[in-house]
Amino acid sequence: MKKEQLYEGKAKKVFATDRANECIVSYKDDATAFNGLKKGTIRGKGEINNRMTNYLMQHLEKEAGIPTHLISELSPTDTLVKRVKIVPLEVIVRNVIAGSLSKRLGAPEGTELKCPVLEFCYKDDELGDPMVNDYHILAMGWTDEATLSKIKDYAFRTNEYLKKFFSEIGIDLIDFKLEFGITADGVLVLADEISPDTCRFWDSKTKEKLDKDRFRRDLGDVEGAYQEMIRRVFTHE
Ligand code: UDP
Repeated sequence: MKKEQLYEGKAKKVFATDRANECIVSYKDDATAFNGLKKGTIRGKGEINNRMTNYLMQHLEKEAGIPTHLISELSPTDTLVKRVKIVPLEVIVRNVIAGSLSKRLGAPEGTELKCPVLEFCYKDDELGDPMVNDYHILAMGWTDEATLSKIKDYAFRTNEYLKKFFSEIGIDLIDFKLEFGITADGVLVLADEISPDTCRFWDSKTKEKLDKDRFRRDLGDVEGAYQEMIRRVFTHE
């Protein structure tokens, strides 16, 4: 079923299948940060990110009506997905100030935002994924106005669903990054992953970081944090 490798990214490989409109995503334990400057391995990460992404996407489809690229989980690390053309944007939603926003606004991490903040970055490693706004996106033709408006709607609805989901397992959803794609039939779907690599998760009581910041900032017990997150996600009713 798995045919030639189409692409290898920092955390995943993508393979062709015998169907032109489907491909297989294979999650790796490799971790990178700071645009590839820091490299390492997080044991068990591939499996955890694959299973968490699929669980959340399945729930987002069913309970929040967000279309996703998910077709079916093939193994602990591999998933069959719809082949899409990725919209070259990182769609970031923030509920609490952290990371780059803390630096940009000079506000301490942990500061609550009065409403969710939506940001776009243009996906280009060489440029370091620069932040852009609606005007850049439309003027460069990265997507059209109707699709952009749907992306915003899906991003905020995903945030509402995930915020509640994670609060029920004792986790504050600080911020996260989404990517969207267009299927062969021209349908906009949520793609990529939703995992501790792409979200900031803080324990609601202790505010302990349970995400990739443990790797980025050398906070220790990175594997333990990923394991704790998948354990909690699977205890959600
Ligand atoms: N993020 C991501 N990939 C990126 C950049 C950011 O998944 O290339 C996620 C990151 O994990 C966090 C959110 O997007 O949950 C906001 O990240 P931020 O802009 O604060 O950047 P960072 O501080 O991670 O460089």
